[in-house]
Amino acid sequence: MIDLHTHSTASDGTDTPAKLVEKALDRKLEALALTDHDTIAGLDEAEETARGKNIHFVRGCEISTSTDLGEMHILGLWIPDECDILDNFLTHLREQRQSRNEKMLARLRALGFDIHMSELKYIAKHSIGRPHMATALMAKGYVESTDEAFAKYLGENGKAYVPKVAPTPAQAARILSGLGATVAIAHPLLRPLPREWLENTVENLAKNGLGALEVWHTSQNENETGYLSRLAKKFGLGLTGGSDYHGENKPGIGLGTGTGSLDIPLQVYENLLARRKASGLPC
Ligand code: AMP
Ligand code: ZN
Ligand code: FE
Ligand code: FE
Repeated sequence: MIDLHTHSTASDGTDTPAKLVEKALDRKLEALALTDHDTIAGLDEAEETARGKNIHFVRGCEISTSTDLGEMHILGLWIPDECDILDNFLTHLREQRQSRNEKMLARLRALGFDIHMSELKYIAKHSIGRPHMATALMAKGYVESTDEAFAKYLGENGKAYVPKVAPTPAQAARILSGLGATVAIAHPLLRPLPREWLENTVENLAKNGLGALEVWHTSQNENETGYLSRLAKKFGLGLTGGSDYHGENKPGIGLGTGTGSLDIPLQVYENLLARRKASGLPC
């Protein structure tokens, strides 16, 4: 079993990068990618922990992008070790994130909640986001659960919601593919999108460096996985998959297993690797 989509304390997961790798080893995962939101700050620690162990570690990240129909997440897998272009790009994204976070906190305070950036910085290690606001709202007893925090205040229809200023999927795909990463659309069906729009977007992104679709994801059922596999094949793309594990921030989602039935075989990792080799990319 493998898992190519996970989060750590570098963004909004609750396991440190080292702990995440240790859990993956306990569960006998054969390959693991760490894909924190808009940051690669956890990768060195995870890679170091995995070194010499019985697991293939893949350096990754998940970039929030913006389309005319809302947010789309772009995964980069096999991203390079040191790279100023990527560092500068991600720093800029986190600055935009911070300005959005400040606006959302101002709205929360206007709603009567005593919540400040210093508290979020205490919870979050590097890339701050809405789940940290949910944790702060819960810690102060303003809501009972993350679900309630998102439904009432933080979700797209919530009272404190402010959209992120983010790059387009094509911009993110071009930067990541230009650095030799394998680029995938994360959980393409998580938000309701017209299928024709999605297919046009995939076709367009395939010309801008897209190399794969996340066909297996905790939120996707067998029919959706089948549909996405056909879509990937139609545009000559590879297949990837992962749980989107966030530790205690998403308690129902297990590393590797998702809500229980996820079981992504090693062959998926090997096929991605074979595509990279065929394109002359480092593995
Ligand atoms: P941000 O990047 O700050 O916009 O926050 C995005 C994070 O919030 C992602 O990890 C999402 O999975 C998480 N998220 C979005 N909607 C919900 C929800 N309804 N309940 C729990 N987490 C959510
Ligand atoms: Zn997240
Ligand atoms: Fe995502
Ligand atoms: Fe994710």
